[in-house]
Amino acid sequence: MSTLFTVDAVRKRYRGAAEDALGPVSLSVEAGRHLAIIGESGSGKTTLSRIMLGLLPPTAGVVQYRGTPVHDLRGQAARDLRRRVQLVLQDPFASLSPRMRVGDIVAEPLRILHRGVPVRTRVAELLAAVELDPSFARRFPHELSGGQRQRVAIARALGPRPEVLVADEPVSALDVSVQAQILRLLRRLAEHEALTLVLVSHDLGIVQNLCHTSVVMHRGRIVEFGATTELLADPQHPYTRELLASVPALPQHHETIGKIL
Ligand code: ADP
Ligand code: MG
Repeated sequence: MSTLFTVDAVRKRYRGAAEDALGPVSLSVEAGRHLAIIGESGSGKTTLSRIMLGLLPPTAGVVQYRGTPVHDLRGQAARDLRRRVQLVLQDPFASLSPRMRVGDIVAEPLRILHRGVPVRTRVAELLAAVELDPSFARRFPHELSGGQRQRVAIARALGPRPEVLVADEPVSALDVSVQAQILRLLRRLAEHEALTLVLVSHDLGIVQNLCHTSVVMHRGRIVEFGATTELLADPQHPYTRELLASVPALPQHHETIGKIL
């Protein structure tokens, strides 16, 4: 098994803050083992994922991707990491340029790559991969539903053929039935594209059917780590139990998502 990310004793203190928002946190991400980062709002999930992506500098500690530190990368090495690790955010409306057509949004990262494949062919291929009709290429983001917009964001992220897709609360803004469709899509894509998922979520129901391993975060620290099924069936840390108990609809929610998945 090859290790993609190694996070070693990473801490983050935002400028002017009295205490650390994160850490120290250590974890690793193995290829093909989807990881869930779980925790309530403010627990440091987004901070951790942005540091892993190299988008935010840690105050202390080191993040490596395939053995190379992700911070202070320059030139080709930085571009290479940008390609290999892609990000999908909660609100695709905020991340999709409103004046660009879907076809151009999906094509943009491809143009930067200068690959041999004709861009239009690849865009059609990517739209098909996220189960959108090729005619969507002519539409604007405001003409799409929330679920369709998230499909476009995923298509755009898949364009550079990444190894890892980091999805920060990718379905939190969507209806439960649409959530299940997007999660099913992510699972299928991960299989077909040999993609490893890092799924950030405050919702335990969401991760169960998707992620092999989970870390539970509380106040910037990892309080529990392990195989997702075991962790949810037999939580060891009081906070994990609390988190489970605070989701009364969990069994039903699982049923819904499980059925559709
Ligand atoms: P989560 O994604 O789990 O909701 P975040 O990583 O966004 O958590 O936030 C963790 C902590 O860091 C919170 O206390 C939050 O207020 C703080 N924080 C996040 N971003 C910033 C920032 N840019 N500047 C200062 N504090 C921040
Ligand atoms: Mg967040």
